[in-house]
Amino acid sequence: MDQQMMRENLETSLRKLHGVGFQEANPSQLADAAMTLVQEELQSRPLIQGKKKLYYISAEFLIGKLLSNNLINLGWYQPMNELLAERGLAVADLEDLEEEPSLGNGGLGRLAACFLDSIASLGLPGDGVGLNYHLGLFRQEFRQNKQCEMPNPWLSKDHWEKRSKISFTVPFAKFHLQSTLYDIFVPGYGNEAVNRLRLFDVDSVDENLPHADGIQFDKWDVAKSLTLFLYPDDSDRDGQLLRIYQQYFMVSNAAQLILMEAEERGVDLHHLDEAVVIQINDTHPSMVIPELIRLLIERGIDFDQAAEIVSRTCAYTNHTILAEALEKWPIDYLEEVVPHLMPIIRRLDEKVREKITDASTYLIDDQNRVHMAHMDIHYGFSVNGVAALHTEILKESELKNFYQIYPEKFNNKTNGITFRRWLMACNPALSSYIQTLIGNGFKTDATELEKLMAYVDDAEVHERLDAIRRENKQKLSDFLKETQGVVVDPVSVFDVQIKRLHEYKRQQMNALFAIHQYLEIKKGNLPHRPITMIFGAKAAPAYIIAKDIIHLLLCLQELTCNDPEVAPYLKVIMVENYNVTKAEKIIPAADISEQISLASKEASGTSNMKFMLNGALTLGTEDGANVEIGELVGPDNIYIFGKKKDYVIDAYAQGSYHVADYYADPQIRQLVDFIIGDQMRAIGDAESLERLHREISGKDYFMALLDLRDYIETKNRLLTDFEDRENWLKKEVVNIAHAGFFSSDRTIAQYNQDIWHLV
Ligand SMILES: *Cc1c(COP(=O)(O)O)cnc(C)c1O
Repeated sequence: MDQQMMRENLETSLRKLHGVGFQEANPSQLADAAMTLVQEELQSRPLIQGKKKLYYISAEFLIGKLLSNNLINLGWYQPMNELLAERGLAVADLEDLEEEPSLGNGGLGRLAACFLDSIASLGLPGDGVGLNYHLGLFRQEFRQNKQCEMPNPWLSKDHWEKRSKISFTVPFAKFHLQSTLYDIFVPGYGNEAVNRLRLFDVDSVDENLPHADGIQFDKWDVAKSLTLFLYPDDSDRDGQLLRIYQQYFMVSNAAQLILMEAEERGVDLHHLDEAVVIQINDTHPSMVIPELIRLLIERGIDFDQAAEIVSRTCAYTNHTILAEALEKWPIDYLEEVVPHLMPIIRRLDEKVREKITDASTYLIDDQNRVHMAHMDIHYGFSVNGVAALHTEILKESELKNFYQIYPEKFNNKTNGITFRRWLMACNPALSSYIQTLIGNGFKTDATELEKLMAYVDDAEVHERLDAIRRENKQKLSDFLKETQGVVVDPVSVFDVQIKRLHEYKRQQMNALFAIHQYLEIKKGNLPHRPITMIFGAKAAPAYIIAKDIIHLLLCLQELTCNDPEVAPYLKVIMVENYNVTKAEKIIPAADISEQISLASKEASGTSNMKFMLNGALTLGTEDGANVEIGELVGPDNIYIFGKKKDYVIDAYAQGSYHVADYYADPQIRQLVDFIIGDQMRAIGDAESLERLHREISGKDYFMALLDLRDYIETKNRLLTDFEDRENWLKKEVVNIAHAGFFSSDRTIAQYNQDIWHLV
């Protein structure tokens, strides 16, 4: 669409919606008209068709705002931007007025969103299937240096989703629920036809159910609460039951949709696997296996055959080796919510017991719990990890017993990110500059970024890259001032750790670095250049220690920002309510990408890829996809430290890590004890600080103190290197040039080639 046509269409849309013309419309009217225009276009487009269709079932889709991304994929971004410039506006200004959908939590949900973009961009027929959470994942507020959880109502009548006429009956033990299906259209980049994100809901949900000023609510009324929240608190029985209600509701709808569409296409259900493939994203959708078997039996297929058909149709992605994250549901609970699935699950378990002697792989354990991952592995045809190292760990330790039975099922699919959002949309200045250097090709073939290596020593390119980053830092500074009232110096080095709060990700280790740096400044050892340490993280509401770490970071923010001796050299900044929108503003401004998880614990990570693509250098452990980043850029262009996975896995197996050995070191002890020192007590809550101190000094399950010394030394070396600007900018070029491998287009092409076999 050219600019003239865009102008006419926007005029028409504005007149119809608000009775104003382009010149008089205010930004909110313009945003409304632009969204409507895009939405109408998407609805009018054909669906991507093919002999076989993918259903990507996931409890989360962390899709972010959609206006920029949809405009980019339609090829409308530039004409829209140029048109808005006449009004002194840009697409980004309109997007500021859009609500970010609250349908995801972290990396797993963001991965699903990147995949939808790439599936459509590659022209593959594939829909996402999930739930339409009204209040989503909680919105984070800081009060008295602590995290408060608030409902996050994001749905408005004119949002991107469209109510369909499709509805299914979902049977539970005590009642049935009627579903409603909402669709969000998913355009691919440079593609005419579209896919959909299909979100199931119940009309009876009551957004007013939560108690005032929080996310607590009565869980017993399932019809009113089913799709209120993503991951409602499951620390009690009612919470766990609600999770099972949600999961079964999601997969029963998915299975009914899949069979309805297959029947419409005239598929012989005996050959369902030739027309359908289901990707089970982590274990939340695992009950789709017994549910599909149940529905096939209803349609006249016998049990054994149904089980075989389903096994040829379902593939499972594992996202974690953390034992507590592998779902196991008590049989009692399943009997209470979905009793009609239990005979099927029991029969599936018996079939395993008939063939296999290794009891550790059984679906039902001796404590009467159903292991969802075990069901996926026995009754799916593919099991994939999400980075090379992660898949190795699955094969050699976590899922070793399964690997010995089914070596052919295991495969790796290293995660990726969509460059449309994580470069073109979030960093338009860098994206256009790259285009002037190497042309347009990288937008569809990301490996073309390698052409940037021709400029690795080019002083002019260095200068431009530096200038683009400086502008991005200025913009982030302005944003932080406006939204949180904090002032940061754009000349300082931006050292960033943004991700969910978890002990294995070791934000606490980074906090100890901040304390170290603070004490150095107090001693008069000033850094070469001011350091801005930026954190963003939500903690699960019931995860006490994670919330204690947030408290520590917020106390360090107050300490560093309010001390006139320290603030000019060091500021700790905690960004409130970290989400996709914030990530898009922070990542293009980052110099340092903190990826410091305990080796073996981070399955892949994807923020590491986003940072690399935008030219930040990784300071990280040999974990997840950091390993692959290191292989691509070489050791001179990444800062790796810490113990490796074999050491860590061995230490857990032998129980040989004793935090006391490290806490005994006077320098380390000084940093850890600072947490309960007078300065912190003056700012923070003694109970929280003491609990965290006890945890780190007495247990340190994720071994922060193990790597602390190496971390501090490596970070200091990095900060010194940062001052050699020419050399640093060379490293930046190397990183951007090798980021092409992490395009989710590559990941999806591999899923398709090895697992899905679409088209
Ligand atoms: C990419 C992304 C994540 C995943 O971050 P990791 O550091 O890989 O855990 C989480 N949340 C948001 C909002 C993201 O954009």
